[in-house]
Amino acid sequence: MAGWLALTLLMWGNSNPVLQPALGSASPVSPPAPPAAIAETASDDAVVRVRLYADRQVDDALLRRAQSDASRLLSSAGVANAWRICNAPDACPPVPETVPIVVILSSKGRPSGRENCGMAAHGTNDREGSVVISVPCVAGVAFRLSRHSAMRGNPLLLMPRHDDLVGAVMAHEIGHLLGLRHAPTGLMRATLEAADLAALRRGQLGFSQQEAARMRVTLESTLASQDMKAVP
Ligand SMILES: [Zn+2]
Repeated sequence: MAGWLALTLLMWGNSNPVLQPALGSASPVSPPAPPAAIAETASDDAVVRVRLYADRQVDDALLRRAQSDASRLLSSAGVANAWRICNAPDACPPVPETVPIVVILSSKGRPSGRENCGMAAHGTNDREGSVVISVPCVAGVAFRLSRHSAMRGNPLLLMPRHDDLVGAVMAHEIGHLLGLRHAPTGLMRATLEAADLAALRRGQLGFSQQEAARMRVTLESTLASQDMKAVP
């Protein structure tokens, strides 16, 4: 668990490596790819393998719903993903993993007024990555957006939940680890607006087709570089 603290921070398009819950409008969203298509195109190794941790104050049901949402968003972009929930001490023994990513849900809030709730960082090499997300921070953003004047009364925003937004932030940050930068619209937006949360809850928020392709290329090239290193 302590290893992620030493990770090298990634720098994105702006100078702040701490990333906001970034979601966007529906216009460039690619249609979800059917799971069967993913199975046909992804090799067995072309899978993002995620270990998910949370501290004891994070609700277990929230964790599982957020994980499911993040998995769905990645799968919709054709990025095969497999998750292990690692809260029990021996739940996740070390195993060889080709593209290991660790996601940590924290019950600690961000400093007052800050809404950059997620952070992604590469490890000692580009094959490893880590994401840390403040759940109270995401909850605060969801609450603020639910009161947005332009969409006041929108039932999609009034849902008293934020697990779906945590899942979207997970997918956004993993997108960074797979080579994506912020975009003007879509799931990789730097800043969340009320319309974005509504789009998420309509199932109309995701990665663009270009972003989906970029993530798959990153995944395949990472695997290819590993294959080369394995040759004496
Ligand atoms: Zn970001």
